This record gives sequence, C-alpha cells and structure tokens, in this order.
Amino acid sequence: MCGIVGFSGTREAAAVLIDGLRRLEYRGYDSAGIAVADGSAINMAKVKGYVKNLSELTHDGADIRGQIGVGHTRWATHGAPNDVNAHPHISSDGRFAVVHNGIIENYALLRQELTKKGYAFVSDTDTEVVAHLLEMYYDGDEKKAVMKAAARLEGSYSLGIICAGGRLFAVREQSPLILGLGVGENYFASDVAALVPHTKNVIYLDDGEFAELTPEAITVYDVRGRAIDKPVSKVAWDVEAAEKGGYEHFMLKEIMEQPACFKATVEPRIKNGRIEFENFDLSDQELRGIRRIVVTACGSAGYAGQVGRYVIEELCRIPVSVELASELRYRNPIIDSHTLLVVISQSGETADTIAALRECKARGARVLAIVNVVGSTIAKLADHVIYTWAGPEIAVATTKGYTTQVAVLDMLAIYLADRLGLMEKERYDALVDALHAMPGKLQRAIDLNRNIHKLAKRLCKYNDIYFIGRNLDYAVCMEGALKLKEISYIFAEAYAAGELKHGTIALVEQGSLVVSLACYEPLFDKTMSNIEEVKARGAEVLAVALEGNRKILSKADDVIFVPRTEPLFNPIAQIVPLQLFAYYVAKERGCDIDKPKNLAKSVTVE
Ligand code: GLU
Repeated sequence: MCGIVGFSGTREAAAVLIDGLRRLEYRGYDSAGIAVADGSAINMAKVKGYVKNLSELTHDGADIRGQIGVGHTRWATHGAPNDVNAHPHISSDGRFAVVHNGIIENYALLRQELTKKGYAFVSDTDTEVVAHLLEMYYDGDEKKAVMKAAARLEGSYSLGIICAGGRLFAVREQSPLILGLGVGENYFASDVAALVPHTKNVIYLDDGEFAELTPEAITVYDVRGRAIDKPVSKVAWDVEAAEKGGYEHFMLKEIMEQPACFKATVEPRIKNGRIEFENFDLSDQELRGIRRIVVTACGSAGYAGQVGRYVIEELCRIPVSVELASELRYRNPIIDSHTLLVVISQSGETADTIAALRECKARGARVLAIVNVVGSTIAKLADHVIYTWAGPEIAVATTKGYTTQVAVLDMLAIYLADRLGLMEKERYDALVDALHAMPGKLQRAIDLNRNIHKLAKRLCKYNDIYFIGRNLDYAVCMEGALKLKEISYIFAEAYAAGELKHGTIALVEQGSLVVSLACYEPLFDKTMSNIEEVKARGAEVLAVALEGNRKILSKADDVIFVPRTEPLFNPIAQIVPLQLFAYYVAKERGCDIDKPKNLAKSVTVE
C-alpha cells in the first residue's frame, strides 16, 4: 500500500514526482505530497485526497522548485487521512523530509523518547518519528544518520529521504522499493509502473539494504553501510501497458485484456503439446512425497485458489486446502516437508501472504509461488515461481490477475496429474487443446455480454445480493460477490447453493437478488431446485448458464450466458460477465471504480 517515488536529476523534480504518483495512485489515495530540495532548503506540498488535488495545489508542480525530491500517495494506517498526516514528514530543523510505506511498530516508544528529548510532533502518524530520529542522529553525516535512524525502527518500512543539501536516500525493509537507472538522472518507486516512462533498467533492493541516488549514480549499501554490487534487471512491461488506452477505467481495460493475458500466461508453457514450467520441476521422488497441497492467499487470489482446489483434487486426487494467509500464519499450522505450499499474490508483496509463507517454509514446506510481479518479495522467498504474465494491473479490484492465476492453477493440476501417472494421453491432449481454446472463449464471454450494462442499470437498486452455486460454480460465486462488494459497496455474499437452506435462506425475501451460477452441469438439477427455493421466498433471480442451455430460461428472471468450455475451465469464462456486471453496477451507482473507498492494491501491511 502507498506509493513512494524519488527523483535525482538536473531538471525540475516536482512534475516527474507528480507523474510518478499518478501512476502509483492505485496503491493508496488518502493523500498525496512531495518534498523537493533546491540545494539549501526543502520545499514541500501535501494535501488530503487524490494526486489531482496536489497537482492543482502546486500548478502541476511548477510552484515547488528543486531537482531532487520524494513523493507519496498514502493509504493511512496511523492517523486520519488529512493534510497534516499526509507525507512527507519533515524534521523540526527542516533538514530531512521522509516518505514512508509500511508501519513502524515501535513508533509509540520512539515517540515517547523523542518527545522527552524535546522534539515536537505535529502529526498522528507513525512515520513522523523517522524525521525526528534523523535530526537526532545527524552529526554532519547524513548517511550515518539514515543508518542510525533505520536501526531503531521495527516493522515494515520503505523510506524515501531527502536532505536539504540535496542528498537522496531510499531504505527498504519488508516493503517494496525498486531503483531505476536513467541517463543523467535516477529514480526509485514502490512499483515499476512509475519507472517505465523513464527507464527499463532497475535494481530490486532487498530487505535491510539502502541506496543513495545522485543524478549520475546509484550506490547500494548493506545494513552496515558497505557498498554492494547489485544486478541490474530489465523490466518487460512497456509504458502503454500501465495506461488506460482510451478506456474510461483501468478495470474495464483490464477485463478486456483477459483473452490476451490468458494467452500470454498459458502459451509459453505449452511446448509440443506438453506443459512445462520454467521454474517448477520436481523429481519423481519429490512428487510422490507430496501428501497435501495447501494454497494460501488473500482476497481474490484466495478465491482463485478455491477454483484450483476443485480442479487439483479432481485431477490429482491430492487433498487441497485453501487457507486465508492472515489466519494460517497465527494458528500453529500442521505443515511439514510433505506439504506443497502454493502461495498466490498478484503483487507478490501481500504482507499477510508473505508472513504465512515464511511460517510454513520454516516448518519445512516446499513453496511454489504464483505471482505477477517479477522480482517481488514472494517470488524471491519461494522455492519455485510460476509467473502470471498479466502485465501491470492498476485497478484495485483484480480481474486479469485472477483469471491468469486460475489459468496457472489449471495448468498445474494437469501437469501434476500427468506426472503422477493419473491421466490418459487422450484426456491430457484434450485438456491442453481446451487451454489453447480459452482465449477465444474469454473473448466470446465478453462478446456475449455487450449489453450487460442494461441489466446492471435495472439491478443496481438491490442492496442485498446472494451468489449461490455448487462445486466450481460456488468457487466462482466467491469472486463474483467480492467484485460487487469491492467496487459497488453492495452487500453481496457467496453461499454454497445447498447450504442456503441451513440458515441464510431466512434472509431471502422480496427485494433480495439471487445470482445463481448454474454452469456446473452435473449438478444443474440440484441448482434448479435451489433457484425454486429462493423464488418461492420472493427473490429475483439472475442466472449464469452455459450457452445453449434453454431450461434455465423458464426458471430465472434474467440469464447471462457464457460459452461452453472444457467443464473444468468454466470458471475462467464465467467470471467475465460477473466482473462486467460489478463494473456497470458500480458505474450506475456513481462509485469511483478504480479507487474504491477504504481499499488499496498491493496490501503491504498485516
Ligand atoms: N503508516 C504510515 C501512515 O499511516 C504510512 C502508510 C502508508 O504506507 O501509506 O501514514
């Protein structure tokens, strides 16, 4: 959460910083601010709300002069989102300004200590302690002050620090920070999205490391302040990938990109009709040693895992459990070297998921990560990585991130089943053919639902929406309901269709909308009975069914059709109209679709 940018060059910094913040705004949008050094003093502007407010306040940065600076877009953890708590935070002597992503866990003690020493605090943030620590430790050497201050901090922090004299530092501990190498200027940012307009050459800082940036060079130091060599990586994303490209919202653009992203994720892994992963290969012995698979993740990534659970169990006959990362971490989990831990995270920086990964790894699990961001923390910590090649995902509500995660899980299931000798050649070939066909099916799922906004116009009035389904349909219900909650703020919840009658049906009445997923055809008749049950209680029913299914027309009030695919892959096509439905409902209700309230992408706090 929160976006940090830093710039050291010979042109004016403010406009570069504001442009960078705009590109990172999906990470937090409670407030925005910049601080720029002109060689003798620090000039600062910060304001509650979106980056556009900062841009207006500073006339696109023209009012804030200087060639070296830092910027921040906040997702508040400590202190209300207001002007005073906005970053940067500045030391009382005006020598240091700090931007911070993360949480300083020992801030209360530090604040007490600093207050006793006479430092006056103006904000409620945990971050402000860093500015005063820097001042306290400064004895003429700014680098030393940075090291001494960082050594006092506990928790997670990436920091951007500028000094009035013009020095610029970046510090990383358990929050993402990437350095960008330019020509005659250098940069840092929380995410490559802010770097790609300037450079594709980046250095991934590791925990405990810090760097000093000048216009000519970047020097990386270890925790003791010794200069270290770091490899330079090339970013594969281009700048257009992180822009809206004519769409009104990133979310809509990203929904439409799904056929291409699915293809980019799947095709390179199929060679001569066989699934091969570049960084996941187990010996036969290792493979047979796996007794169970535990999938851990948060939010939509967890729901992708729920789809994966059905498919892996079906094909591989290995027990799979899907665990919320925030819970798994703290419940003394039963995990050992016979567990394959599958960790899913779009950003690769989800703090809860990282904590669960570390805990399970320490207990001996072999860790396979499914992430979208190369060089991310989870990618580094895992034993194996399978990347989803979805490109940058900017909208807070995931779409292409989710479908490509499901794509990888489906491939993984086929791969494992084959390696375990559980799959006939014909079945294997048929599934691989079906994977090849999926981009076309995804496109068909979009094309079949061009008019879904009309449906959304009529149904956006509902305040309680129940998603019901069985088996794979149930797994998709979870993601469908979450989409609606996240961006339209409608109460929506997923229930296993057969479970409804055990309690929740008590809530269903006239004025309830039930979205019934009926694509899992082996249980179609059972789902039909569940539709009858909710209709009998007065609910309106919107069904999602496979193209050509006519039976559903007599039961549901409205039907969304999705193309027929290999039944195990139905969820991938099914989620598309549900994403579109959530999108248009949110639009009808006037919600800020790409920046939903209280949320941020890449949740880097626990
Ligand atoms: N903990 C800091 C604050 O609340 C930083 C939050 C962030 O990462 O945006 O101001």
